[in-house]
Amino acid sequence: MRIETLAITSTRFEDKNAGSVASPIFLSTTFERETDGSYANGYIYTRADNPNRQTLEKSIASLENGAVGFAFASGMQATTALFQSLEPGNHIITPNDAYFATNVLIQEVFSRWGLEMTMVDMTNPENIRAAIRPNTRLVWIETPSNPQLKISDITAIAAIAHENDALCVVDNTWASPVGQQPLNLDADIVMHSTTKYFGGHSDVLGGALVLKKDNELAQKLRDIQKLTGGVPSPFDCWLITRGIKTLPLRVKAQTENAYKLSLFLENHPEIEAVHYPGLPSHPQYAIAKKQMLGFGAMLSVQVKGNEQKAMEITGKLKLFTTATSLGGVESLVEHRKSVEGIHSSTPENLLRVSVGLENIDDMIEDWNNALAL
Ligand SMILES: *Cc1c(COP(=O)(O)O)cnc(C)c1O
Repeated sequence: MRIETLAITSTRFEDKNAGSVASPIFLSTTFERETDGSYANGYIYTRADNPNRQTLEKSIASLENGAVGFAFASGMQATTALFQSLEPGNHIITPNDAYFATNVLIQEVFSRWGLEMTMVDMTNPENIRAAIRPNTRLVWIETPSNPQLKISDITAIAAIAHENDALCVVDNTWASPVGQQPLNLDADIVMHSTTKYFGGHSDVLGGALVLKKDNELAQKLRDIQKLTGGVPSPFDCWLITRGIKTLPLRVKAQTENAYKLSLFLENHPEIEAVHYPGLPSHPQYAIAKKQMLGFGAMLSVQVKGNEQKAMEITGKLKLFTTATSLGGVESLVEHRKSVEGIHSSTPENLLRVSVGLENIDDMIEDWNNALAL
């Protein structure tokens, strides 16, 4: 089945009691046990499993063409669970242009757990080969990267990871399975912040891991999920499941808007550079074209001028709300360097843009006005 159909069928909960078409929300934390000690429907306690979570996990796994999925209370909790499945002394290779908190989590928390980390520029796979150590167990890819939209070659990097007995994980939050399916490109695991495109309405926090195989690692993650309890509530699962139904249509429409906006901005005299993988001028356009199904709805621009000039423009934009996060129906803009802090290597004149579902002509007008001197 195609992704638009899967988004509808995989999120349907078959309600045998009332026959409801929309899914019920199962708020119950506990489920009835039979006199023989069994559980009629397999549910025992909501930290371990819940009908809404199971529907969500199966749906996300099917959208990413994986064998098994795990839902968490946030993207960072999904990342945490994966790192917790590693052993002290293991080494991780991460991108130097990754979601800021991913690298900080390793530096601040998992260094005390004994995890070692090397950050590299992943636009050249040879940098990963050079960073491999005997104890490297995980290569973390984020493509397109945050906030500079760098593209890494998933298949090439997965091959290097596998030659060295390491797993290849892709944070696929920005592309969503509509724009990129890493498990079909030889990655082993996909991570998502479902807070973004899956939820799609900026009103629910969530995360997920999808594994290509239901193997020993999957069992380990199932245990970690159940024991640590960093799970989404039934209502959170319900909201994300509801979001999935329109995910393919939203992402396609937002991607089209992002492409048109990037073309407009690229030709504007007040813009120094536009970073969008769908532009032929993007340095890794060829790789993006090869591995992406759509170029996504995120872009960043470097304005002509300094940090203050960039901040001023965010104030002049009326349609683009100045706020962090991405993937919702409403367009957002954010000055990244001032969010990431003094150690950030993000250019001071860079604005990150999450393109929403408003009319593209209104978006272009808004930027045109904001960039007018
Ligand atoms: C938002 C985000 C995360 C973290 O997810 P939360 O749901 O905020 O915990 C991780 N990676 C990327 C690329 C993100 O955009």
